[in-house]
Amino acid sequence: MRTGLCGELDATDVGNEVRLCGWVARRREHGEHLAFVDLRDRSGIVQCVVDGSVDLRSEYVVAVRGTVRRRPAGMENPALATGQLEVGDCTVEVLATAEPPPFLVEDRADVDEAVRLRHRYVDLRRPRMQANLRLRATVVSAIRRAMDLQGFCEVETPLLWAPTPEGAREFAVPSRLQKGSFYVLPQSPQIAKQLLMVGGFDRYFQIAKCLRDEDLRADRQFEFTQLDMEASFVTQDDVLDFVSAAVLDAAEAATGERPPAIERMTWTEALDRFGTDKPDLRIPEALVDLGSVFEKTGVRAFAAPTVKGLRVPGGASTSRSRLDALVERAKALGAGGLAWFRIVEPVADGPPGLDSPLARVLSEDEARGLVQATGARPGDLVLAVADEHRAACRVLGQLRVEVAGSPVGQGPHRYAWVVEFPMFESVGADGHPVAAHHPFTMPHPEDLDLMTTDPLAVRSQAYDLVLNGWELGSGSVRIHRADIQAAVFAALGISDEDAESRFGFLMGAFRYGAPPHAGFAFGIDRLAAILAGEESIREVIAFPKTQSGGDPLTGAPKQLAAGSLAELGLRTVAPA
Ligand code: ASP
Repeated sequence: MRTGLCGELDATDVGNEVRLCGWVARRREHGEHLAFVDLRDRSGIVQCVVDGSVDLRSEYVVAVRGTVRRRPAGMENPALATGQLEVGDCTVEVLATAEPPPFLVEDRADVDEAVRLRHRYVDLRRPRMQANLRLRATVVSAIRRAMDLQGFCEVETPLLWAPTPEGAREFAVPSRLQKGSFYVLPQSPQIAKQLLMVGGFDRYFQIAKCLRDEDLRADRQFEFTQLDMEASFVTQDDVLDFVSAAVLDAAEAATGERPPAIERMTWTEALDRFGTDKPDLRIPEALVDLGSVFEKTGVRAFAAPTVKGLRVPGGASTSRSRLDALVERAKALGAGGLAWFRIVEPVADGPPGLDSPLARVLSEDEARGLVQATGARPGDLVLAVADEHRAACRVLGQLRVEVAGSPVGQGPHRYAWVVEFPMFESVGADGHPVAAHHPFTMPHPEDLDLMTTDPLAVRSQAYDLVLNGWELGSGSVRIHRADIQAAVFAALGISDEDAESRFGFLMGAFRYGAPPHAGFAFGIDRLAAILAGEESIREVIAFPKTQSGGDPLTGAPKQLAAGSLAELGLRTVAPA
């Protein structure tokens, strides 16, 4: 139907007769004898000139035949890739008429998201959405190629499945043939991929849909896509290398630039330096330990197990009201308080160089130590929090991000591997520790003895991949030995019967020869969003749900007709 694409015409096409198809982006008529039609397809826009009048409206679908020519001098449009050219002597054939669109098909138009989603098919025509979904496709194909090249086999696993162990609320699907029974939509292919390892597929991957019935936010949808992978006879470092290759290839394909090798740090180090297991490495400043500076302090505010400091370059100009707000914020985050020091040229009656409510009470050594340890210079601000170790790190780490205020999609892309996560994240109400990852994660071999004596100190062989402060994904070396699995289930308070009914089929499979294995999964929506410079994953998903879980386009979720309910053996209860 067409000879090429609107946005791809260039000087070499001058003189050629072309036939282009697309949507009318704009039309301007000059009397009855001349009309300009801006024609849009997925590649861009080109101006078409008709010697006569046209009966067209915005978003009509048309085919245009004409001859490519240079625009007359002075009529070029530098804002358009094809702005030096136009298609002249055009005849226009209307392929489909269109009602006026609900909003302008332009990136500049600021449209309510619910309206965009209700008319997503119009929204998708906007250059931004075209670019985002294409970038996503580039990312997916680069990932697929990288996994192929590394010898991984793509295997599809079922969507109609049984409960999986990620710990999120699950979607259930009623069974028609076995009334009263339900399938569960998988939170991830976790168990299936471990079964594939027992099945001898020693390098598996899948671009997998995962489904979790959890509250939605900018970086979370009910259904999302992961690169899911698992391999046998590999170490943790092998997995990190496999995944790094896929991610760096994808980033390079999307941006044209290969990011440097991904930094690795332990969970403890991440907490110490950044106060979080999702460090944002775009911010150069890290937390520093001020423990030795205030070791013998007489200042009550600093008498705590840990004192952490943070340099804010150029922060000395921060207003008093902003500093007060930061103190309140630190308290809201759970700290007893926040100390701040503007670093100034020496002042008359305080220790040299500090402007702070605490300036007078610090000893000269402490003042000097504070400045030295943080590397602060006149013009900077230093923030300090004193508390239990975790709390001090977490609060100051959160302020580090908030003070820098850089949105996730902006600036360079800084990846990090965080390894050696704790096995358990806390102790639950029932007195049992709560798994930090899922219950199939292998404890660190050196910490096996601590499982019963000091569970919270047990490190695991679990790892996360982080990008600009967003968790991209996680994985672990798995337990393939029945005795260790039993010990972990016991520590988690999962009884033998419970384990049998939930994961019995996996444990059963393990009795038939389970290779040591390890794996990982990362969110492709999140990766694509950041690479596209977007704040929300909805911008890289063709048909996302709104924050409240609805789809304004289809109206889902919807009530089922009485007949359908009966067939499924279901009766609904009216909402309270
Ligand atoms: N199944 C895990 C998840 O979806 C990832 C993994 O451990 O491989 O988070």
